[in-house]
Amino acid sequence: MDSAEYERKTAARFASFDQDGNGYIDREDFSAAAAAILAEFNTTARCDKGQALYSGAEAFWQGMAGIADVDGDQRVSRDEFVTGAVKRLRDNPKRFAEIARPFLHAAIEIAASAEGEGDGVTVGAATRLLRVLGADEKLAGQVAEALDADGDGRITEEETLTAFATYYTVDGPDPQ
Ligand code: CA
Ligand code: CA
Repeated sequence: MDSAEYERKTAARFASFDQDGNGYIDREDFSAAAAAILAEFNTTARCDKGQALYSGAEAFWQGMAGIADVDGDQRVSRDEFVTGAVKRLRDNPKRFAEIARPFLHAAIEIAASAEGEGDGVTVGAATRLLRVLGADEKLAGQVAEALDADGDGRITEEETLTAFATYYTVDGPDPQ
């Protein structure tokens, strides 16, 4: 990947997190993401799953801030995102899974119950989740489908988590 491509991808990931598009990732963006997921799957914020999603969003934000908010102003600028979040999460994808898990676990529960019984979520629900969280339609579909290795149309929570970690952190080598 050349550096223009890397820049483009990083900008797209930043935009995914910056839900309100004000040029910073902050707590409001994470609550906005939670609200968007609830709306997408017709789920109320008051139920247990809705509450879990909001507390997961807060934990995700705290984790992101802990990694990337270097100047401590409670928001992650584009520079902080690129030098802090992207690089550090790519060096340590497990760390991403750790900070994102409560949020994604709640999101997956919501998506799963909106689409009927069974293990994990359907490819369609995972695609909707990725799209709500800012991935473009085509990419979201590709990422979700690639995970359904056995072709039964469902992917597990662990696989969904991997899909998100891949989407947010894997961009090939640094353009040094
Ligand atoms: Ca924002
Ligand atoms: Ca900051």
